[in-house]
Amino acid sequence: MIIDLRSDTVTQPTPAMREAMFTAPLGDDALGDDPTVNALEAKAAALFGMEAALFCASGTMTNQLAIRTHCRPGDDVICDYLSHVYQYEGGGISVNALASASLPQGERGKLTPDLIRGHIYSPADPHKPLSRLVVLENTINKGGGCYYTIPEIAAIRQVCDEHGLILHLDGARLFNALVETGEPTQAYGQLFDSISICLSKGLGCPVGSVLLSTADVIRQARRYRKLMGGGWRQAGFLAAAGIYALDHHVERLKLDHARARRIGTMLERLPVVQDILPIDTNIVIFRLPETILAADYVNSLGSKGIKAVSFGKHLVRFVTHLDFTDDMLHELENRLEL
Ligand SMILES: *Cc1c(COP(=O)(O)O)cnc(C)c1O
Repeated sequence: MIIDLRSDTVTQPTPAMREAMFTAPLGDDALGDDPTVNALEAKAAALFGMEAALFCASGTMTNQLAIRTHCRPGDDVICDYLSHVYQYEGGGISVNALASASLPQGERGKLTPDLIRGHIYSPADPHKPLSRLVVLENTINKGGGCYYTIPEIAAIRQVCDEHGLILHLDGARLFNALVETGEPTQAYGQLFDSISICLSKGLGCPVGSVLLSTADVIRQARRYRKLMGGGWRQAGFLAAAGIYALDHHVERLKLDHARARRIGTMLERLPVVQDILPIDTNIVIFRLPETILAADYVNSLGSKGIKAVSFGKHLVRFVTHLDFTDDMLHELENRLEL
């Protein structure tokens, strides 16, 4: 038995999800008549109280389309130094939007009103780029799955309103935050100008992310998606998995969180583990001693049938997900202690 904790992207579609995919009515999405894609976009937009949605191949694409649509060349994006849009999207802020980035360093990747205020340029100063967009991430991958609450976001929204800034959410793991806080999706729709959610992470779909925003922003993003070669045809097969996941795979994320916390208690007993970031959702990040490289430790886990990723020189990450079962949890305990 291989225990794969590299990411919540490694899941396989369940039999019921495959059934929903195989039986989905299909059309040509480039011509606007794939009924299943249209149903997914309508469902996701309604869930968050947003006007419109766009189904895309990846979370990188939905984030980048949002940034490109919101910014003009020479604009500046404020995002945490650890954020996915800066660290893991191939420099897309500069390539796609011709924008620069200001990179506050928050606690575990979390921005605050003060950190944001400190990085807003005066629009009256012609030397500076124009501050245009703030991007938050929820939950925060590099922060070990920590999350914002609505009051924290509302305070940031207020700063954005005071300075005429647009607010985008990289919500790749937003549902992981929502099942912890119990906060309503509608509140997110009111606070953000655009939201990206991933279907292929904790929700267990094979492919796909959705961008949510106003009808105008989505119309423009659809043009850019086409320009990037991201238009697709009978994508209803994939959209059907998304609809199924929104209906059946949200509440169960709590199980992933409980299992992640259980892994935390296992790790506490291992002499090799120096410290563990607080486990808030489905991500576990722990530190090894200075004498052990994460890459070497990950290799040694691999030889015991445990897959993980190194997340820095001495940091290792485990992510729990739909295909990580209680049996695997028990087996993990045995193998870790070998
Ligand atoms: C996974 C992820 C994305 C999107 O990644 P893709 O692999 O392009 O779908 C965006 N933001 C965060 C925080 C992520 O973890």
